[in-house]
Amino acid sequence: MINWDHNATTPLRPEVAELLVRRIREGAGGNASSIHASGRAARRLLEDARAKVAQVIGAEPKEITFTGSGTEAAALCLKGAWFARGDAARTRVVVSAVEHPAVLKAAAQLERHGATVTRVPPGPGGRVDAARMAEALGPDVAACSLMWANNETGVLQPVREVAAACRRAGVPFHVDAVQAVGKVRVNLREVNADLLTFSAHKFGGPPGVGVAVVRRGVSLEALAPGHQEDGRRGGTQDVRGAEATALALSLADAEVEAWAARLAALRDGFEAKLRARLPGVHVHGADVPRVANTSNVRFDGADGEAVLIALDLAGICVSTGAACSSGSLAPSHVLTAQGLTPAQAHASLRFSLGRGATEDEVDRVLAALCEAVPRSRAAP
Ligand code: PLP
Repeated sequence: MINWDHNATTPLRPEVAELLVRRIREGAGGNASSIHASGRAARRLLEDARAKVAQVIGAEPKEITFTGSGTEAAALCLKGAWFARGDAARTRVVVSAVEHPAVLKAAAQLERHGATVTRVPPGPGGRVDAARMAEALGPDVAACSLMWANNETGVLQPVREVAAACRRAGVPFHVDAVQAVGKVRVNLREVNADLLTFSAHKFGGPPGVGVAVVRRGVSLEALAPGHQEDGRRGGTQDVRGAEATALALSLADAEVEAWAARLAALRDGFEAKLRARLPGVHVHGADVPRVANTSNVRFDGADGEAVLIALDLAGICVSTGAACSSGSLAPSHVLTAQGLTPAQAHASLRFSLGRGATEDEVDRVLAALCEAVPRSRAAP
């Protein structure tokens, strides 16, 4: 099987799987809040993991909050900042229109709590204009959120520029870095964000562990109150998950440059060969900076779903940005926000390569596409 759907999730790194198996076999598993020896041992492991994560991400250990997913971490940041805002006159939230549903749905929920949401559209390449985002800020804004890298197109967003604009406007700034960590170097202080979130299962860690980096001095109201995680996220901590996340993060961080160089070469070769072999091929975001592993391609006149199913039958996993809601396939909000028609969005597929990708995989995916795309185009 060829897994070219690594933006959806990644396999556990073997070192991480080994660590988890070892911990489960050991059977130890104290509650990190207990005072006795087993609790203290769990607490030590948890705090070691926190310190490791903080070190890689350019934060202080106290600024790291473990959550149950990237989605929860983003909701904690956006909704937490809204509910903690000191100034009731701040009634607006600013997000880009191409955010992941984790952010868009949290913003929509705030709308139902009385917020006004400004959704800033991207340019035709899928990149949001920092000046346009800055123009949307003002004294009535409670929080602003922009993703570092888009999950569907891989397009990198101008997070540093928007962070600077937020700082000038006194607006807490959240960066959804779920698709950036492990793909580019991510450092809280370097990007100068107030809030930054990511998810372990996107870089070889376990699913079910997210991280919210909350810069010192930034107030958040907990979604689930409790004494754990400095009061920001109640609930007994998943110590093994935290340890596994710290290990996966340090391994991914150590190979970021090598990963990017290798995958960019494979991805660029794939796109060049695709354009040479098939007519009507468009790579979304080809003219703006992107993460190295992601290729979002439109095959004019083809049905993305049909091509996806044909590839699946050939043992190749890819994805469409379409969301299956109430039985109808809604076109990708990311692609339509950047000006594509619903039909063009439905003709698009996302290929997201993994660290084990090879030239042989590229050739096999190309061969499968060269069969499936013309067949879909010819279908009535
Ligand atoms: N943000 C982005 C950009 C994502 O791609 C994802 C997952 O695909 C998430 C947030 C949510 O992360 P999780 O799956 O850990 O909830």
